[in-house]
Amino acid sequence: MQHQIPVDQLGPQGAPMAEAVDKCVHCGFCLPVCPTYEVMGEEMDSPRGRIFLMKEVLEGRVDLQEATTFVDRCLGCVACETACPSGVEYGQLITAYRGRAETVRRRTWGDRLLRWMMLSTLPYPARFRWAATMGRWARPLAGMFPRRMRAMLSLLPAKLPPRAVLPELTPAEGPRRARVALLATCAQQVLAPEINAATLRVLARNGVEVIVPSAQGCCGALAAHTGAQSLAQRMAIQNLTAFPDDVDAVLTNAAGCGSGLHEYPLWLRGSEHEERAKAMAAKVRDVSQFLAELGLEPLALPRSAKVAYHDACHLAHAQSVRQQPRQLLRQVDGLELLEIPDELCCGSAGTYNVEQPETAAALGARKAAVIRDLKADVVATGNIGCMTQLQMHLGADGPIVMHTMQVLDQAYRGEPLL
Ligand code: SF4
Ligand code: SF4
Repeated sequence: MQHQIPVDQLGPQGAPMAEAVDKCVHCGFCLPVCPTYEVMGEEMDSPRGRIFLMKEVLEGRVDLQEATTFVDRCLGCVACETACPSGVEYGQLITAYRGRAETVRRRTWGDRLLRWMMLSTLPYPARFRWAATMGRWARPLAGMFPRRMRAMLSLLPAKLPPRAVLPELTPAEGPRRARVALLATCAQQVLAPEINAATLRVLARNGVEVIVPSAQGCCGALAAHTGAQSLAQRMAIQNLTAFPDDVDAVLTNAAGCGSGLHEYPLWLRGSEHEERAKAMAAKVRDVSQFLAELGLEPLALPRSAKVAYHDACHLAHAQSVRQQPRQLLRQVDGLELLEIPDELCCGSAGTYNVEQPETAAALGARKAAVIRDLKADVVATGNIGCMTQLQMHLGADGPIVMHTMQVLDQAYRGEPLL
């Protein structure tokens, strides 16, 4: 797409934004895979429409505030990147654009409050635990709150699991085959600490020594994807210092966090930290990717089960990790792997189900209907956000939703999935 974006005036992230716009040839191949285009059917709610709008804003032809509604409705699922034959890196465009837009856009009082609440609690496990406890107490009064606050309350579990402290070092069982560092993942530690526990057990069982650096913090993805660029940069710098170099890989077990770590070079572009960010990003692997490369010790379920695998967008599209989790699940004796015949985002997308509850609910209901038809016993996925969204829409009588590592862990421990 031809453009006159004033790259020199846009700082270090001007070039990646211009490059993405430049590569777009307006072909429209990305439209059918875009969840918001599917739900709303409007060009401006499609990747092509948003690229054009962002270009116009960056060129100064369209008022930023006018474009905001359409840009805010983007899930950031980057399904459009997978579909694009021209290699448009939409993710780097929208992340950089949102960071720039945040410094000048006008937000309502309610918007600012909600954003402040999310950014000052979700990335910090102790604060999030406290806020989630308060939120559960406030749930009977949900009808008195604005709709997005109600959406936030509806996502909280009925009961929070007890706080779990992760060991800083988990030794490998048997001969050591690898040494890795694990990102502990903020909200997941509070909502489902058993995912990290299962991940550590599966890794140890496969001869992997795991370090969980105590100085690590939030990966920063939540901040970056809501335009809080300087907060995301500070979080990235903290992790660059916290994670050691002498490991074979830096592992994540939450798709959104993994794709956040891969974006560190973009967030820190042009800074003194850029090279270190590139070095760390090169070591980042999703745990399923790492285990598929390493090779799994044999495992079996004591009772057979049908497991449908759900692709988290930030694994499948942002990190191109599709086959590896399926490969691991297929190795479990007694597990029948089912494919979900629908690739659209489930509507979770970080804080999207709080910020855009109607679209998120439409996508969640659509995905749940497709999954129910499969008659699966379990849905496995690799992202806590998807797990929360799917379980909410599948309901108590639907299949249970588990992390892929929990499925493997139960097989290793000889426990049935249900
Ligand atoms: S598929 Fe790629 S090149 Fe075609 S309109 Fe979409 S973003 Fe542009
Ligand atoms: S990131 Fe997802 S929601 Fe946003 S334009 Fe691309 S496909 Fe559509």
